[in-house]
Amino acid sequence: MSKQVRINLSRIAFFGLFVLLMVKGKPMVWLGIFGVSLLAAFLFGRFYCGWICPMNSAMVVTETAAKKMKLKQRNSPKWLESGWLSWVLLVVMGLSMAMLRKLLGVQIPVLFYFLILSVLVTIFYKPEVFHNKICPFGGLLSLTGRFARFSRKVNTEQCIGCKRCETTCPSTAVKVSREDRKARIDSKLCHQCFNCEIICPEDAIAYQKK
Ligand code: SF4
Ligand code: SF4
Repeated sequence: MSKQVRINLSRIAFFGLFVLLMVKGKPMVWLGIFGVSLLAAFLFGRFYCGWICPMNSAMVVTETAAKKMKLKQRNSPKWLESGWLSWVLLVVMGLSMAMLRKLLGVQIPVLFYFLILSVLVTIFYKPEVFHNKICPFGGLLSLTGRFARFSRKVNTEQCIGCKRCETTCPSTAVKVSREDRKARIDSKLCHQCFNCEIICPEDAIAYQKK
């Protein structure tokens, strides 16, 4: 089974599970899956983003459609650059889920709202804007993912600096250095998807111990 098929099957399966849990009113089960993935990122990196996250799965489809329709996807606006919004949204999400449920017995489908937001943002902006500047789950995963023991890594001896990996990365995790024209991957941002590995003409990228 090809790498692309494997990751797509995982995305479809988890998207189905997400929808099922939302319909059944069990968002806490999904947050449990996220919690386990958050801790696992210390070891294996942010595989939640690439393989599990329903927002990313919806964004992949949206981005493909936007490209087909030749929509112009913009870079991050200056006011979002520092990433403050993801932390504000994390607090708002936590409070609204906990307080409203406790005080009023109301359960707001916050996760579903984030899914809609991720699609809307991706229609107008490059995917890294949502992943790195807006998503509260991405913000949390960047805290544990930076310590990942295993991650996608570039063999700099094989790298020819063609930048194909940089162009295909959904989260600006891989950059080609101006000094030595070699690509390097930042596990804090890397979703552990296969995009760069598949596109690299030199087979220079692999998942391995950092
Ligand atoms: S695609 Fe491969 S060869 Fe090209 S810059 Fe990236 S790691 Fe280097
Ligand atoms: S660096 Fe490679 S594996 Fe990591 S998010 Fe970017 S394309 Fe995916």
